Amino acid sequence: MPISPIWEIVRLASQIQSEGGDVLHLDIGAPPFRLSGLISAGLEDALRSGRTGYSPPAGIPEYLHAAAERTVARFPDGATRAGFDARSLQPRIVGSQGGTQALMAVISGVCDPGDNILLPEVAWPNYVEQALLAGVESRFYKLDEQMRPLLHSIESQIDARTRAFIINSPSNPSGAVCPPQLIRSLHELAVERQVWLIDDLAYCDFVYEGDYLTALECDWAAPENERCVLAVFSCSKSYSAPGLRLGYTVCPDPQLACDLAGLNDPLMGCLTTPLQLAMAQGLLYDDPAQRSEVLKERWLEALDLAARLGLSGPRPSGGMFKLIDISASGLRSTQFALRLLREEHVAVVPGAAFGMHPVGHGPRGLRFEVCREADRFVRVCFASDPQALAQGFLRLARLLDCLRAA
Ligand code: PMP
Repeated sequence: MPISPIWEIVRLASQIQSEGGDVLHLDIGAPPFRLSGLISAGLEDALRSGRTGYSPPAGIPEYLHAAAERTVARFPDGATRAGFDARSLQPRIVGSQGGTQALMAVISGVCDPGDNILLPEVAWPNYVEQALLAGVESRFYKLDEQMRPLLHSIESQIDARTRAFIINSPSNPSGAVCPPQLIRSLHELAVERQVWLIDDLAYCDFVYEGDYLTALECDWAAPENERCVLAVFSCSKSYSAPGLRLGYTVCPDPQLACDLAGLNDPLMGCLTTPLQLAMAQGLLYDDPAQRSEVLKERWLEALDLAARLGLSGPRPSGGMFKLIDISASGLRSTQFALRLLREEHVAVVPGAAFGMHPVGHGPRGLRFEVCREADRFVRVCFASDPQALAQGFLRLARLLDCLRAA
């Protein structure tokens, strides 16, 4: 598996920094907040009281209970309509080492080798890599100009070997949020064609405009025998804790949660017990809403800067990222990102990182082709420090103007 271009940029940026250069970081999507004191106190308590044993495959009850409480509190209308409270939801939940491991378990849990899965053509790169690891064929569905899924592109690619499609709203890398009607149609499609709908909700606590609906809520409104949504949550962004590696999946039924828990064992042994106890405090008492307000200001600032500097690209409505169209530079996204880093000391992620599509094997292993729709852009993280954001946008626009004029 090739190392993602994201980490290549990070490596080069630290090299420049180690040589004394100053780099503005608009690359990695690290939340700009300190970990809540509740979570760190929870960790200290767990360690002090010796809660360092193995955890059951699905997670310890305290963590699963907190995840259930949080999910019911986050989607109160859907939960009430479906008759879920934390107690009845808990058996449907399985803990994971971040959203990443949850997705690996979900993909290998619902697909067999030789099956196929439909992914957005511009998407977080791990989906493709995880499908490859599971021996599952990736097919790519088209997105509209605002980077939202095109229903007919999903519909037309479903065949007898299709087991699932993944959606990610708000999206990484585009920040696109699917309107509620689209979510309803995607859910109807999954029900009708009897495929799983994997709802990657890593950024669900950061939506800044418009109505927001998740496929999970649609699923809860459906009769039990039609439920088909596996909703994957990450604590990394919501609780500013990417290094604690926690997440969870809400399954349509308790049996599927048990099956996924069975995969946790070979995938990672088990979750760390003290970290689950710590995060349980976060899930119960540390509401991400205030952090979302801060990010909303940075989002507004990013939209304003982009408009003032004439930087185009799809409008994000949530998440932490904005795509900027650099096609006028005449460069591919990786070349542009490398020049921006070397000449202007601004780190961004090349769009190519989100469009690596496997095209078989070559003499040196797997071969990938970069999807054109992704290669037109670089991704900036607007959660970054506001001064770095303003300077970074200025320098990016300067390089783009300079290349455009050349
Ligand atoms: N999905 C998306 C779209 C992401 O961007 C990320 C984090 N970068 C994840 C899932 C998983 O994050 P984690 O493993 O840190 O929970």
